[in-house]
Amino acid sequence: MINQKRDEIVRATVLCFSGLDPSGGAGLQADIEAIGQSGAHAAIACTAITVQNSQEVFGFEATSHDLLLAQANAVVKDLPIRCVKSGMLGTTENIQALSHFLRQHPNYQYVLDPVLVANSGGALGDQATLVAAFQQLIPLATLITPNTVELRALTGSNDLTQATKKLFQMGANAVLVKGGHEPTQDYIKNTLYIQGNIISETQCPRLEGEYHGSGCSLASFIAGRLAQGDSIENAVHLAETWLFNVLSSAESPVVGGQKMPKRF
Ligand code: PLP
Repeated sequence: MINQKRDEIVRATVLCFSGLDPSGGAGLQADIEAIGQSGAHAAIACTAITVQNSQEVFGFEATSHDLLLAQANAVVKDLPIRCVKSGMLGTTENIQALSHFLRQHPNYQYVLDPVLVANSGGALGDQATLVAAFQQLIPLATLITPNTVELRALTGSNDLTQATKKLFQMGANAVLVKGGHEPTQDYIKNTLYIQGNIISETQCPRLEGEYHGSGCSLASFIAGRLAQGDSIENAVHLAETWLFNVLSSAESPVVGGQKMPKRF
């Protein structure tokens, strides 16, 4: 007998504003894979097409403001979006487009990964203008996930405690400070703050090598769990455990290249 499949309602959805990385390590592919692993569905509004591999960024072309909003508005109509996640936005116009979109949908949770450069060091937009434009997104975010380089750039403060304090003064709700760029040799420490208070500090052993798309994967997994109703604290802890396993089995495409997280 043929089983007639009934229409099914799509899983809780995260709408990602992110760029295409042709290596598949970072950007929208990282988002789709991480959100899928979190149990949610990923929809994408593509912000840019980058040209890069695991070692170098050669350039990018950003999507226009109108095309970006058209993509987002098209999927709003028929997907159960519970959370928005942004990664590479590339231009001030795209940041403004996202800010406009979020103001129209104040019920969406929002994870802001304030991407400025690729892990290989290549620029993914003009730093100074991105930093200035990010200011309008900070008060709209449920959670911001800066590494310490991004935290210092966003706030202009070198001291991490002062920098985090400044981010809350700029309107942040919750901040996950990722310690991977700090000179701790054997371990990495992440600190989660909600409304200015330290909620948790997690430490994991530092894995050898450099990883392409680790930040995108972490932020997207968190967004996927938030979309399914987890608290910020639970979503962050589940994502940290998941990411550590994923990075532990990462593969290097070439000698000296950054490792690609094996997300499934
Ligand atoms: N988004 C895009 C399109 C990228 O190409 C990159 C890095 O190459 C990132 C985001 C940030 O990646 P990571 O998670 O390594 O910080």
